[in-house]
Amino acid sequence: MTAPSYLTGLIGAGIGPSLSPALHTREADRQGLRLLYRTIDIADLGLPGESVGRLVAAAAVMGYDGLNITHPCKQLVIRHLDELTPEAAELGAVNTVVFRDGRTVGHNTDVTGFTQSFARGLPEAPTRRVVQLGAGGAGAAVAHAMLALGAEQLTVFDTDPTRSTALAEALNRRFGAGRAAPGAATELAVELARADGLVHATPTGMAAHPGLPLPIGLLRPGLWVAEVVYRPLETELLCQAAALGCRTLDGGGMAVFQAADAFRLFTGREPSTERMLTDLADLVGAPAL
Ligand code: NAD
Repeated sequence: MTAPSYLTGLIGAGIGPSLSPALHTREADRQGLRLLYRTIDIADLGLPGESVGRLVAAAAVMGYDGLNITHPCKQLVIRHLDELTPEAAELGAVNTVVFRDGRTVGHNTDVTGFTQSFARGLPEAPTRRVVQLGAGGAGAAVAHAMLALGAEQLTVFDTDPTRSTALAEALNRRFGAGRAAPGAATELAVELARADGLVHATPTGMAAHPGLPLPIGLLRPGLWVAEVVYRPLETELLCQAAALGCRTLDGGGMAVFQAADAFRLFTGREPSTERMLTDLADLVGAPAL
């Protein structure tokens, strides 16, 4: 009997280095499935972000089972879809589109991915007061996940205060007044001193943006530190936080669980997240998570 086959891919700009093709196809291979995962790089194709609508429509015609969507198309794709899951609708961002029965459904597995990673990697972590650095695309997804996980008060800092203010306002509309607030740079030390945990959602710590996103003296043992950067898995922030005795969570779990959730949606098969975590560590050249 022929193995089931699946046609999937990723639409975005500058996605050549994406690990999604390898994460999806390695898991499919282990399960004996034939799964093609194509990157559709709009920067290489010279297309604007707005072209995502016609690319999704073309994929539907060509029999795609699903697509991942990334920068700069996560918001732009929404008006081209038939349905959204509650997380995607509330967040106003879609990173996974599923084609089924002639309809397109938008999901956000960045939110569900971070949620699972946090529960796995920092079980029982207190979340009464949480500080987050970074209010961009990843920051919007993890802030939503933190409040949905039950964080009582989230203070968001961004070097661009218009972004932290806009994110806090959007979160308060969704979760209720007072759950989120923007922080001014001068308030970071005070907020961290009374926080249970720190979520880091800026690109600082990536090879292209080395260094620390905050003065390390602001960390203390007892504070947990969750990272979204996953290249490298051990960022300077995580190394220094672990050396101080903080509980830490790297960004690899979010990357894997978002891919695993998309894989399940595309194929209807249950992925092994433990094997995918090993794949990710292998792909970024680090010991298994
Ligand atoms: P982005 O450019 O949309 O947002 C980054 C934000 O951080 C910007 O608003 C910027 O002003 C702010 N910023 C930069 N330096 C800062 C600092 N020192 N203090 C406070 N704010 C600062 O980027 P993004 O798409 O949100 O991605 C951020 C990081 O998250 C990247 O490294 C990306 O690879 C990673 N990411 C990880 C996952 C995952 O699955 N683990 C998913 C998405 C993105």
